[in-house]
Amino acid sequence: MSSFRPAIFSGRCVALSMALASCLGTTSIKAQEYLNGIEWKEPAIVTPGVTNDAPPSDAVVLFDGKDLSRWKNGDKWSVVDGAMVSGKGMVTSLDTFGDCQVHLEWSAPTVVKGDGQGRGNSGVFLMGMYELQVLDSYQNKTYFDGQAGAIYKQTPPMANVMRKPGEWNTYDIFWTAPRFNEDGTLKSPAYITAVHNGVLILNHFELKGDTPFNRPPQYKKHSEKGPISLQDHGNPVRFKNIWVREWQPVVGTQVRKPFLRKGNEEIPLDK
Ligand code: MG
Repeated sequence: MSSFRPAIFSGRCVALSMALASCLGTTSIKAQEYLNGIEWKEPAIVTPGVTNDAPPSDAVVLFDGKDLSRWKNGDKWSVVDGAMVSGKGMVTSLDTFGDCQVHLEWSAPTVVKGDGQGRGNSGVFLMGMYELQVLDSYQNKTYFDGQAGAIYKQTPPMANVMRKPGEWNTYDIFWTAPRFNEDGTLKSPAYITAVHNGVLILNHFELKGDTPFNRPPQYKKHSEKGPISLQDHGNPVRFKNIWVREWQPVVGTQVRKPFLRKGNEEIPLDK
């Protein structure tokens, strides 16, 4: 059995640690360090929400449970117990966004009616035209590229993560907007990554274009920014806690070639 004596042992530890730190401090001056030669712009400081579902400091809150004042056609939908309920016609945000992160929560109707595409159908339209499907896909089969989490008619989600009708689902969406050339041709496609109830369902999926029901997808030049729209498909789907934040790419400038540093000596990597 080992004779563990905390008081004495910790005293020795402190002394040993100090000696080690001193030793490392000396050697770190002479240690070899790799430097990439890139001058980075300082990342933005964003204050997170109280929970990871709550809007961070740089988010635009489109619906906080109170009213639909930030939505076109909002007067045709209703607010019941802090949730917005699908009404007549699509609602579209007044704010527009380019590359962005979207958080929203949605619930299929508690009272189950219909089946397939007729059950709890709505949709989140990025830039007003690219649909991430909202559907009651809990024990409700339909075509796979039309179930909840699908990019409509383009790809199914990687998993069906539905909660039961009436329970709240979360979507966290990471959107890269498409870019267009001056002449209207596509410069780079849209990409989407999406998380449904904490589970990755779309991983940097490249969209083939918009998502209509009755023709193939296509890209048609549009503004750099667009709204978020929520679909009316005749089913009383509920939404809450909707916020969006535009993200900016990391910016860095290669100000010199990568090199190694050892003490005061700088060693080029290409000699
Ligand atoms: Mg839909």
